[in-house]
Amino acid sequence: MLTGLTVHELAERFKVGDATPTQAARAYLDRIAALDPKVKAYLTVTGDAALAGAAEADARFKSGTPRGPLDGIPLGVKDVFCTRGVRTTCGSKILDGFVPPYDATVVARLVQAGAVILGKLNMDEFAMGSSTENSAYFTTRNPWDLSRVPGGSSGGSAAAVSADLAAATLGTDTGGSIRQPAAFCGNVGLKPTYGRVSRFGLVAFASSLDQVGPFAKDVLDAALMLQAIAGHDPLDSTSATIPVPDYAAGLSRGVQSLRVGIPSEYFIEGLDAEVEAAVRAAIETLKGLGAKTESVSLPHTEYGLAAYYLIAPAECSSNLARYDGVKYGLRAPGARDLLDMYNRTRGAGFGAEVKRRVMLGTYALSAGYHEAYYGKAQRVRTLIQRDFQKAFERVDVIVTPTTPSAAFRMGEKEDPLSMYLNDVFAVPVNLAGLPGLSVPAGFTKAGLPIGLQLIGKAFDEATLLRTAKAYETATTWRERKPELAA
Ligand code: GLN
Repeated sequence: MLTGLTVHELAERFKVGDATPTQAARAYLDRIAALDPKVKAYLTVTGDAALAGAAEADARFKSGTPRGPLDGIPLGVKDVFCTRGVRTTCGSKILDGFVPPYDATVVARLVQAGAVILGKLNMDEFAMGSSTENSAYFTTRNPWDLSRVPGGSSGGSAAAVSADLAAATLGTDTGGSIRQPAAFCGNVGLKPTYGRVSRFGLVAFASSLDQVGPFAKDVLDAALMLQAIAGHDPLDSTSATIPVPDYAAGLSRGVQSLRVGIPSEYFIEGLDAEVEAAVRAAIETLKGLGAKTESVSLPHTEYGLAAYYLIAPAECSSNLARYDGVKYGLRAPGARDLLDMYNRTRGAGFGAEVKRRVMLGTYALSAGYHEAYYGKAQRVRTLIQRDFQKAFERVDVIVTPTTPSAAFRMGEKEDPLSMYLNDVFAVPVNLAGLPGLSVPAGFTKAGLPIGLQLIGKAFDEATLLRTAKAYETATTWRERKPELAA
């Protein structure tokens, strides 16, 4: 089945002429039609555009002029990226009916690489959440257990890869939204260094934290996806000019003598015993492959969540001010005057979690409180950055659990705080702007995937990919697939 293949396996089929991009696109569209009513990963499927793109890729292979490893590959993108002529909702009612006039840089780069875009994937509203339950449209299901969440906010992107509803996908990670759903759904998720990938055309949540990255069926695919999207973009002044290495080329170098740091602050009360056992076993596997482990300390970890849940809402309250019923999407009817129109539109268009964050953020930034909350959170952020800097003087990569537990049930985390706690191992990485990767590291007794998080030095995604590749090669987790009968 073409939909069971990785990106690199599919590319090989195209190359030798065993399959065409059109066959692959059709296979994925058929599978989406059969299974997505169960998984609910897609908000919008762009079948006609996908088939048109696939036909163009067919022609390139026929004439011997394919563009590279993503040519003709069917991919999906989170509905947070602007797509020219295609509805972009960000999981929110307030953007209902919004059709962007341009592509986000990352989407443009995938299209330029010849990729075929199957559609837009479900997400928590404005990327705020850890379960997709905050989507204004519907909740995506975890392919391993349909009564559980896929994680969030990029839940659709993660579920689509695990359910073989796309060969690979793009998501965003502001405080864990790539790594946590990758762990819950059992695939590889990579949050690059802040600045590695352009944010142009990405609907902003918290601009100093947001970063785009791939979900993939294996580590090589993640490397190929990152290669396609990484690098400076003149349209995003925060995108770095640091050269992009050849990620696939460095993958097989192994982990001999690699210095692996293990932070005690990530093995805490509340960490599920099965997750801890899997992560400790993974550390032993890395040792067996020649890595040298060392304990490191990241003493300000416990303040990460508090700092994140001030900084992210503060930035979101400012970014979301633009949704006022004037320029985009929804405008509530029946208003008496302009202010009333703003109030009605925002009241009707935003969901409860978004409203909570806008209010929290506005409060934290207001005169008199700014220094006590926002200012203090920024100083904590600096301390967390310094913790990592110090640790990385002694080690090349830091290994932790991606999440405190495996996927939880839909409706299980009703109060916001228990949902926020799920991000405890993810947010420090965003606050420090570092790259982080989640790779499958086993299953619970109930058959749910467990993720291992690798954290790297700034702009050293290559070491994360190489470490994950060595681990993946030494284990068999990738062979297991969720059972999803149509
Ligand atoms: N779950 C976190 C939040 O709700 C992270 C979201 C994200 O990374 N976009 O803010």
